[in-house]
Amino acid sequence: MTPLDRLIRRLITQDGPMPVSLYMTLALQHPRYGYYRQAAPIGLAGDFVTAPEVSQVFGELIGLWMATVWAGAQRPGNSIMCEAGPGRGVLLSDALRAIRQALPDFEASTTLHLVESSETLRAQQAEALSPLAPTWHDSVEDLPEGPLFLIANEFLDALPVTQFIYTADGWRERMIGLDAENQLLFIPGTAPATSAAANGLGLPNEAAVGDIHEVQPGVLSFVREIATRIAQHHGAALLIDYGENSPFGHSTLRGIRSHRIINPLTNAGDSDLTVDVDFRAVRQVARSAGAIVQGPVGMGPFLHALGVETRRTALTKVADAKRAAVVDQAIDRLLDPDRMGKIFKVLAIAAPSSGSLPGFSS
Ligand code: SAH
Repeated sequence: MTPLDRLIRRLITQDGPMPVSLYMTLALQHPRYGYYRQAAPIGLAGDFVTAPEVSQVFGELIGLWMATVWAGAQRPGNSIMCEAGPGRGVLLSDALRAIRQALPDFEASTTLHLVESSETLRAQQAEALSPLAPTWHDSVEDLPEGPLFLIANEFLDALPVTQFIYTADGWRERMIGLDAENQLLFIPGTAPATSAAANGLGLPNEAAVGDIHEVQPGVLSFVREIATRIAQHHGAALLIDYGENSPFGHSTLRGIRSHRIINPLTNAGDSDLTVDVDFRAVRQVARSAGAIVQGPVGMGPFLHALGVETRRTALTKVADAKRAAVVDQAIDRLLDPDRMGKIFKVLAIAAPSSGSLPGFSS
């Protein structure tokens, strides 16, 4: 049992069952024991590997996407380049290297901003990105105003989820309580859940007993904020995550430890917690903030449309056979529909005056 497992049991004993969102907040963000505060989670030696960690091609193509959209927006000065949840800073280093070659004016017209909650990861980002003098923020609300070019890869899935469960008495918030053996378990709350609790998007009218509806309030406020800024000042955002273009009807909350899925109610603070992103809700919120939305499309087709095969050829041509095979395998992992190519989705938010965005045409 981790120190956080003990703390959570104590809180439930004192105060009664705990909302799933509070459990997820404590497990990931507790100032002392939270997963992102203490661990070095990302990479082969950590708990999970992300797309930028698989191949440099990912960050390079994302960088070129940003620069192309920036050029299409008449190259605004005072632009804000922001990554939310930059992990070890790999994506941005690859992206900015590619941008520097393709569009050297970009860097002089933008300042670099990072939204990151983990002190451990801020230190790693500082090291990876030191020549670029980034500024760190706790939230997108703290960003300066200006045309916003934002990327978030595997960020939204880490924001706390509120769950509702349909019971014989209607919708209830799904809570975490303790059984007679002092083990954590999911239980329905006692008070009826309201649509207000579902953050204005409403709870499904039709449901069967046992159905679960998930809402990520932090995702909705994040999307509302960036979409409002983009609609007002121009810019674009690329959100990449696992999820679907519909609500799920079941719980997608899971623990991840050493590259395996585990019970989310074990190892609090010592394992990652993650949910699938409801891209339909993201689209709804971004549109009502006045922005346009494209996607979600699968990551494989998106990278194909951005020219991943041309980049593959350029990289393998100059490598020896052994290195070329490594490059090939990594790119295949990103594209393969059975691995990362289909589960991961890409969604773009842009200003109403933007033309069609690269990667979303077909
Ligand atoms: N984008 C990176 C890392 C993904 S892991 C990659 O692709 O490799 C999730 C990242 O989001 C981590 O950097 C984590 O510390 C950060 N994060 C999670 N919740 C956050 C929050 N509420 N506010 C700011 N950053 C957060």
